[in-house]
Amino acid sequence: MIKQLIPQEYCLKCSGCCRFNKEDSVWSPCLLDEEIISFIDKDGFPALSVSSDKRLHLVANPQGEGFICPLLDAKENKCRAYQMRPFECQLYPFLICLRGKKVHLTVDLNCPYVKENLNSFELKEYINYLTDYLNLPKQRKLLLENPQILQAYEEVLYIMELDLTKE
Ligand code: SF4
Repeated sequence: MIKQLIPQEYCLKCSGCCRFNKEDSVWSPCLLDEEIISFIDKDGFPALSVSSDKRLHLVANPQGEGFICPLLDAKENKCRAYQMRPFECQLYPFLICLRGKKVHLTVDLNCPYVKENLNSFELKEYINYLTDYLNLPKQRKLLLENPQILQAYEEVLYIMELDLTKE
């Protein structure tokens, strides 16, 4: 599990995550290959299916417009899979972003915590932690073997380039 930065109370109050405007949103949760195996047909989860680009198929939002992740308990605003949520969800509001052939660590400025703490010591410390973590050989291998999670997100703040190929 990736160490978390954002205090739980921010996430529980915010209705941004896990909800999407479009059924095929680039922001919808994309799974690592090993996660597809562990998520599908897991006892206690709703029926899940994965698209050809390895994303969880979203479901219509029962409380309004748009779509939600099938693992979101919209009433409680909680993830049903929190303890084993996908790598991409653990990483959020940080995102691995592809620009041409370059891989960048970026952050979503729509996250209220990030917006309020952009220049804080805590955020800078966390970015140091995250870049060290993502530069571990094991994590670089994981990203190289799961290119589906390298996506061209728009309107994110560039933090730094990640070199996945270095020895
Ligand atoms: S798996 Fe959990 S954290 Fe990830 S999008 Fe779905 S509900 Fe949100």
